[in-house]
Amino acid sequence: MKQSIKEILKGKPIGTEVTVCGWVRTFRSNQFAAVSDGSCIQTIQVVVDHEATDPGLLKRITTGSAIIATGTLLASQGKGQDVELKATHIEVVGDADPEKYPLQPKRHSMEFLREIAHLRIRTNTFGAVMRIRHSLAYAIHHFFHERGFFYFHSPVITGSDAEGAGEMFRVTTLPLNKIPFTPEGAVDVKKDFFQKETNLTVSGQLEAELAALALSRVYTFGPTFRAENSNTTRHLAEFWMIEPEVAFFDLQDDMDLAESMLQYVISFALEHCADDIQFLKERQEQEEASKPQAERSPMDLVSKLKFVVDNKFERLTYGEAIEILKNSTPNKKGKFQYPIEGWGTDLQSEHERYLVEKHFQKPVILTNYPKEIKAFYMRVDEGEKTVSAMDILFPAIGEIVGGSQREERLDVLTRRMEEMHVPLEEMQWYLDTRRFGTCKHAGFGLGFERLVLFVTGMSNIRDVIPFPRTPGNAEF
Ligand code: ATP
Ligand code: MN
Repeated sequence: MKQSIKEILKGKPIGTEVTVCGWVRTFRSNQFAAVSDGSCIQTIQVVVDHEATDPGLLKRITTGSAIIATGTLLASQGKGQDVELKATHIEVVGDADPEKYPLQPKRHSMEFLREIAHLRIRTNTFGAVMRIRHSLAYAIHHFFHERGFFYFHSPVITGSDAEGAGEMFRVTTLPLNKIPFTPEGAVDVKKDFFQKETNLTVSGQLEAELAALALSRVYTFGPTFRAENSNTTRHLAEFWMIEPEVAFFDLQDDMDLAESMLQYVISFALEHCADDIQFLKERQEQEEASKPQAERSPMDLVSKLKFVVDNKFERLTYGEAIEILKNSTPNKKGKFQYPIEGWGTDLQSEHERYLVEKHFQKPVILTNYPKEIKAFYMRVDEGEKTVSAMDILFPAIGEIVGGSQREERLDVLTRRMEEMHVPLEEMQWYLDTRRFGTCKHAGFGLGFERLVLFVTGMSNIRDVIPFPRTPGNAEF
């Protein structure tokens, strides 16, 4: 295998012959080509002997062209790099017509780059985001593997719509222009591929629970789909979710696991993606400089990440949070779009961000939410008012993790399902875990893109996944 630019820059085999394969970022003075192969944020400088090189070939070395350059690695005289490649042979294997190539060596807007998502991966910013994304995924698997968890694959096509009624994507092979109907006028799902109604999964949790009650410690890491029509900077229609589920775990254990996992993967990124994070930090600082003082973030990206790694998350109940919010200045001054009246209201992102960014100034775990605003499978607390749920709230992001201790008591669970109109007949497989060998257990869901958003400091979730799917957008 040829050496990557990352390997060459690290090993610095000065005086030896090396070959670099990559894409030209810039070409200065017909002599200095900055070449990237995506292995790291750095480019390598390829020095072209412009007098000895055919002018026709020189003209083809343009931004975006693919080249293979062979030569001797030398200590560099110039500023900005320790080594450079003095090319003895250059081949342009793929031209990129400068008249037509959409990426130029200048700053493009994020909106423009989203339209050319097939090419934006070639920019410094998206290269950095994609490498960090990879490292975080790797760190997550590593974290769980080291702790005896098994990677469990929940199905992507699901026959249960228990969780996401209303916001699921239907899966069907029925012809849309000739839908078969039953005599009663309903869609005849018996004629469909699976002979029943099927959807894309909104969460792998219910299946992960089945596995936890057999393997004890499991986690899923897969794509999930939500047809929610929310055009926010934190929601995608297709996103990846990590869902650990653990037998004999209670809510405290669940919070401890989530907190240590987040701290582990973020410190992993700080250690292994230092150059990419540094690049994004500087990029963010430039962006901040153009904002009004009041909107500037008080902490740079690296400090923000270290802060999360080094500080214990603040834990409090939903009820305590409501008291804080009710008495907060923005609430009293009518600054919240959704005023906090009292116990029972669902928290909006503005409230979550107030708690995290203004009040506590650190990540916050809220627990014991009113049962009315949470899912049927969460364990009912003593007093029957709240459930053993927990949400982890992060600065700039709001909710990053949602989890709970699960209701393991068959009678309570059945009652809750009836109250919340969850179809019992279709969920017998789920109830079987409570019928046979039930035990307390807990788990959570971490939105992978929200984590990547936090670690990269990007401001829109569409810019941390290669090809974002949002209402009206499914390009590429
Ligand atoms: P929110 O209130 O932010 O919509 P939620 O309560 O719907 O979140 P859960 O159902 O608890 O979220 O899902 C678990 C995690 O998945 C969330 O904590 C979040 O990190 C992530 N998540 C949820 N919806 C989306 C989405 N549409 N796009 C990206 N990530 C999401
Ligand atoms: Mn949601």
